Amino acid sequence: MPRLPCPHCGPRDAGEFVLGGGDRPHPADPAALDDAAWTDFVHNRTNPEGPGVELWYHAGGCRRWIRVERNTLTHEISGAGDAAGR
Ligand SMILES: [Zn+2]
Repeated sequence: MPRLPCPHCGPRDAGEFVLGGGDRPHPADPAALDDAAWTDFVHNRTNPEGPGVELWYHAGGCRRWIRVERNTLTHEISGAGDAAGR
């Protein structure tokens, strides 16, 4: 099973984590979006190939959100950190 490097717990089995999706910017003013733009933000994902940053929730450990730099083609992990500590 692949392992993810939790910055709080160390390397742990990926089964302990829940994928929260890609780390993408939130709208600066969500109230200014019309229904179509809000629906697009909430439901549509780009699902890019290659290097990217994802948010993972360590449900089976520290119960914190972490950011993981992962290549979606090779599954190589090049970095990780706390999601709140940008
Ligand atoms: Zn953890």
